[in-house]
Amino acid sequence: MADCIFCKIVSKEIPSKVVYEDDDIMAFHDIEPQAPTHVIVIPKKHIQSIDHIYEEHKELLGHILLSIKNIAKELGLEDGYRVVNNCGELGGQTVNHIHFHLLGGRQLQWPPG
Ligand code: C5P
Repeated sequence: MADCIFCKIVSKEIPSKVVYEDDDIMAFHDIEPQAPTHVIVIPKKHIQSIDHIYEEHKELLGHILLSIKNIAKELGLEDGYRVVNNCGELGGQTVNHIHFHLLGGRQLQWPPG
C-alpha cells in the first residue's frame, strides 16, 4: 500500500533492524522501544488491523504466532514476554498495518494504560 510505513519497511524503502524474515512475515526492532526487547511482527501483505482479518488469513496469523514464539526464544526471553496488538483508534493503533508487539526483558506491569 503506497502510503503505509510498514509496507515501506517490507519493501526496504525504509530501513529497519530485521530480526526475522520469510516469504510472508517480517519482524524488526521497534524504533521507540518500550522495553529492553521490543520487536514488531507484521505480515508482508497489507492488512489494516485485526478488524480486517478473515478466514483466509487464519494460516498467516497462526504462522505469525508460532514465529513470535521462536523469535522470543532466539532473543533470550525465556522468563516471559508480552504480545500486544493495538486495534483501531481507541485501541491505540497508530500504524494501520496489522502488527504484533513482542515486548520483554523487564518485569511488565498490568493493566496497560
Ligand atoms: O500499535 P501501534 O500502531 O501504536 O504501534 C506502532 C509501532 O510502530 C510503534 O511502537 C512505533 O514505535 C513503531 N514504528 C517503528 N518504525 C517506524 C514507525 C513506527 O518501529 N518506522
